[in-house]
Amino acid sequence: MVNKVKTGTVIGLNSYEVSVETDIQNGLPSFSVVGLPDAAVNEARDRVRSAVKNSGFTFPSKKIVINLAPADLKKTGTSFDLPIAVGIVIEEGVLEAESVKDYAFLGELSLNGDLRGVRGVLPAVIGLKEAGIKNVIVPLCNAKEAALVDNINIYGADTLFDVVNHFTETPLKKFDSNIANYLTDFNENFEYDFKDVKGQQKAKRALEIAAAGGHNLLMTGSPGSGKTLMAKCFASILPPLNLKEALELTKIYSVCGLLTPEEPLVKKRPFRIVHHTASANGIIGGGSNPMPGEITLAHRGVLFLDEMVEFPRNVLEVLRQPLEDGEIVISRAKHSIKYPAKFMLLGAMNPCPCGYLGDKEKQCTCSEYMINRYLAKLSGPLLDRIDLQIDVPRLTANELLSASTAQESSHDIRDRVIKARNIQADRYKNENIFTNSELTPDLIKKYCQIDENSQEIFKAAIVKYSLSGRRYDRILKIARTIADLDNSKIIKQNHLMQALQYKMFDKNSLD
Ligand SMILES: [Zn+2]
Repeated sequence: MVNKVKTGTVIGLNSYEVSVETDIQNGLPSFSVVGLPDAAVNEARDRVRSAVKNSGFTFPSKKIVINLAPADLKKTGTSFDLPIAVGIVIEEGVLEAESVKDYAFLGELSLNGDLRGVRGVLPAVIGLKEAGIKNVIVPLCNAKEAALVDNINIYGADTLFDVVNHFTETPLKKFDSNIANYLTDFNENFEYDFKDVKGQQKAKRALEIAAAGGHNLLMTGSPGSGKTLMAKCFASILPPLNLKEALELTKIYSVCGLLTPEEPLVKKRPFRIVHHTASANGIIGGGSNPMPGEITLAHRGVLFLDEMVEFPRNVLEVLRQPLEDGEIVISRAKHSIKYPAKFMLLGAMNPCPCGYLGDKEKQCTCSEYMINRYLAKLSGPLLDRIDLQIDVPRLTANELLSASTAQESSHDIRDRVIKARNIQADRYKNENIFTNSELTPDLIKKYCQIDENSQEIFKAAIVKYSLSGRRYDRILKIARTIADLDNSKIIKQNHLMQALQYKMFDKNSLD
């Protein structure tokens, strides 16, 4: 007799229902798992055998075959332990197959029968709900995460014994959907605040524009200019996540095993700081069972590359495609996995190898050759995807002393950012984009019109700064964001002038 126990598996961020079929026959004792299991699933045999015995149940001394169906779907991870163990205790007559038919099971077993948390519970439970499953039993530490899904019964268990007991004697603790609790509970405390950054009004304004329009931004400045501190403050002026975005992020963090049992929902926009020693795989994602990389962990948030020029060129180049498409496809021999990667790129770099090119006090000691070689690491196509490129000069001692002590707080800047984002959300509600940074050339024609006077100014600037078509579009997108921050339906002359002013800082020499 073959019994079937339900579970789910996650590939990328998508989940699939899996049926664990257990067949026990008389014959030489053996225990095999078929149906494309990876090494971790194969090791389930040893864990399940010990866990079943140590929970006080008999482990059959027979020929056991476990089939994970559908067989063509790759099975990875340790979450199959529990459903396999349940299938075996059913065959042993401890549980009725009938009693578990409306249930699905997820969880890793320790040798003594304790349940351990697993990755990917949120996407797995979402998939099980879509497959029509009514009840899911998960490890206790994953229960709050599973309960982010509504309209499905979630039970948390500590041990295999408790799971069996749920059907025979003492029901497990049920976790009601907790998603409603989070609707108003988005944490707004940030470690860094713009009120602590002296001076640098131009850079702060550029960061505000970047946050408002979702534009990528590169800051160039000498050591001590405060660019790294300002980058860290950037997180505090981004608009709060909405619930849909929060769930989308939580799925990603679930698959990576980065959630906490107590607070499973990701409530802050990610701000990922990547070091230049990170590998291309670590940044874009990879591995034989491809896991999300930093660009996916930064989805809906910020990827900050400090000392951007120090990154290997191949690493910087792999960012181009996700910056354009908002997603990354990782191809493997038999399948490819797609992860979302809609992040804002925030970069910081020194202007030259010694760091003091253009500094008011210190002398740059680099040769022109060294400077050119240094800047050449950033390719034109990559820079084309960075709408805002600004200089952040180091303040002199006098400038620091004379800088007003009262600086605007991140909270006030964020209010303006949120208003501008709302204007964009409303304007693009039928366009399938959210921010000005996502405008395509066609949409720029539709939404970034300028009057005749402005066109004349623009023409003059194109000639003066020999702007390419791509740059022309970027300036219009920034002008659109400046107009939104000004709550203006049309792009006025002064909005365009401001956008052009940022272009004057542009690194012409980098093309
Ligand atoms: Zn230098």
